Amino acid sequence: MVCAHHHLYSALARGMPAPPRTPNGFREILDLVWWRLDWALDLETIEWSAKLGALEALERGTTAIIDHHESPNAIEGSLTVIADACEEVGVRVSCSYGITDRHGPDGAAAGLAENDRFLGDGEHEGYVGLHAAFTCSDDTIAAAAELAEKHGVGVHVHVAEGTDDTWERLVDHSEDDWLIVHGVHLPDDHGLQGTLVHNPRSNMNNSVGYARPRRLGLEVALGTDGIGADMLEEFRLAYAAARADDVTVDPELPWRWLRAGWDLMPAALDDEVCWAAESDDPWYLAFTTGVSPLEVLRDGEVIWDGEPTLVDGDEIRAKAAEAASKLHARLADIE
Ligand SMILES: [Zn+2]
Repeated sequence: MVCAHHHLYSALARGMPAPPRTPNGFREILDLVWWRLDWALDLETIEWSAKLGALEALERGTTAIIDHHESPNAIEGSLTVIADACEEVGVRVSCSYGITDRHGPDGAAAGLAENDRFLGDGEHEGYVGLHAAFTCSDDTIAAAAELAEKHGVGVHVHVAEGTDDTWERLVDHSEDDWLIVHGVHLPDDHGLQGTLVHNPRSNMNNSVGYARPRRLGLEVALGTDGIGADMLEEFRLAYAAARADDVTVDPELPWRWLRAGWDLMPAALDDEVCWAAESDDPWYLAFTTGVSPLEVLRDGEVIWDGEPTLVDGDEIRAKAAEAASKLHARLADIE
């Protein structure tokens, strides 16, 4: 399984202090929850968050993650920390740093530099990340597109998740290898190129609406947007969301979206998962909850057999809990 859009930094968010008031819409969810969390991250919390997220992915048979990261107070080196954490657990990862002008020109420059440094070392897979057009200047968007071209990769960007995104400014830059994440509020004739990554659970959770991904004329893959990496669960939810919109949809549609993850991270085709299920038919799986892996192999090596084989899962959970306590204490101090 491939998770085509994740935020591993959100693994320690569970249990965080409640926001000062209940967010009233998508922009307030960013302001009061996620932009406080990313502000509080340091390299240590990023490391344990990524290890926990990778472990939880492996437990659900997901061996490849396309991650989108932001940590404005710990930018330099953050992508290597995430890549190393995933490698230790045995999960493949494609990293990107979400460049943004939210923290001024220095923050944008540091984000650009981190993508450049990471992609330039020749050892890692990734995209150039952009947070979203509505938090970026025209110059920043152009610089990200240029950097992606330099490294021969696409740009991984949130697009039209809420109603007030200025996604039109991406149209002249976008290429086939871009990841267009969400697209909920794109018109049918948007003019963007790339693969649309649909995140049904996250879209429901943020009450942003249903993307109706088929209408957008792009290849569609599935992501979780940071809510774990259980891709069979996301497939079932994608099916239910599509059926809520159109009762004629059959499970082959979200199954194709799930399989599209392999086009984005073909190395995952070398991995094998043995599932505790009687059938791999999409109709069967769409109506069978809780299907779990029995064994996970990466390149022929067993990396999970009920327990992770490369790392101590209990130790990761314990250390991640310690890191979460520190992170939550820091969050409680942010106004
Ligand atoms: Zn996202």
